Amino acid sequence: MADRVYNFNPGPATLPLPVLEKMKGELLDFQGTGMSILETSHRSPEFKKVHEDTKAIIRETAGVSDDYHVLFTGAGASMQFAMIALNFLSGGKSADYINTGAWSKKAIKEAQLVGNVNVAATSDDKNFTYIPKKYSFDSNAAYVHITSNNTIFGTQWMNFPDTGNVPLIADMSSDIFCRKLDFTKFGMVYAGAQKNLGPAGVTVILLHKDLADKAGGELNTMLKYGTYIEKDSMFNTPPCFAIYTVKLVLEWLKDQGGLDAIEKVNDKKQSLLYGTIDSSGGFYRGTVEKEDRSWMNATMRMGSEELEQTFIAEAKKQGLHGLKGHRSVGGIRVSMYNAMPLAGIEKLVEFMKDFQQKNG
Ligand SMILES: *Cc1c(COP(=O)(O)O)cnc(C)c1O
Repeated sequence: MADRVYNFNPGPATLPLPVLEKMKGELLDFQGTGMSILETSHRSPEFKKVHEDTKAIIRETAGVSDDYHVLFTGAGASMQFAMIALNFLSGGKSADYINTGAWSKKAIKEAQLVGNVNVAATSDDKNFTYIPKKYSFDSNAAYVHITSNNTIFGTQWMNFPDTGNVPLIADMSSDIFCRKLDFTKFGMVYAGAQKNLGPAGVTVILLHKDLADKAGGELNTMLKYGTYIEKDSMFNTPPCFAIYTVKLVLEWLKDQGGLDAIEKVNDKKQSLLYGTIDSSGGFYRGTVEKEDRSWMNATMRMGSEELEQTFIAEAKKQGLHGLKGHRSVGGIRVSMYNAMPLAGIEKLVEFMKDFQQKNG
């Protein structure tokens, strides 16, 4: 406990301490079974309950009904870039994608291998430092795809586009459940767990039944959403331990007061951090448009790369880890997912002020 640091890594990312402690407590003997959940059959009643409880708490947190399938897949959010296109874009259909950088680009690339992609808006003209506000949607599109939070550039959608009757699909890997949100606006939401939900190894999917019904194409078993729906994500062995951890993380979130409460904490965290950047007289410079600043991944630059390196090294000595920006952007990135307490940001801004005083 005494050795734990504030971990600002972008993903895999910090987990709530009570979750890790619960896992530790249950690790050798899961609820009186005399074995670890790691060693338990995925067909056992014990795991079946974990699986059902995890689906239930995901639906509860999102505030959605049984109209949405909750699915668990492997191979990360990246696999969904391909699966979405394979299931919904085959047979000459077209889909609209909004390009907000890195992850959107990868999603577009995979979709282009399957069907027609219309880039309905892009912020590449300013190196993805903003979220596009104007789009040209095709009313016949199979779906519209967005990345709700750009983990690398530090932008986040605050108001989602109105796509009319066309289903909206969102990659929410780095901001799912960070705030209140009307999830019923979405045809599909997916998130690799390792940022805001748990460990690497499982991707959580909410898929509306109407969209699921539109899936087509002759696909291999493991590439079809239909398989995950029919077999309750257990055609093959699911990532049991990752699913179990997601359950614990969402139970922890519920204990905190759910999305209402975490939104307030996240808002405090972001305003404290961005406030410190903005009142630094240019010593710290935010890299994206203010209105599109991410609550989850804050990006900033300093006067020189040397200074940034010193900042990262000095911070680490103070127990503030993982602040290096993505290699494609450079600078500093502060990842402050749900599991990062306000105290972590308070300590960071104290450090920032102190560092500025000594180096400004
Ligand atoms: C990290 C990330 C991904 C990639 O997730 P994997 O699980 O590694 O495939 C995709 N999209 C976003 C927004 C991410 O932050």
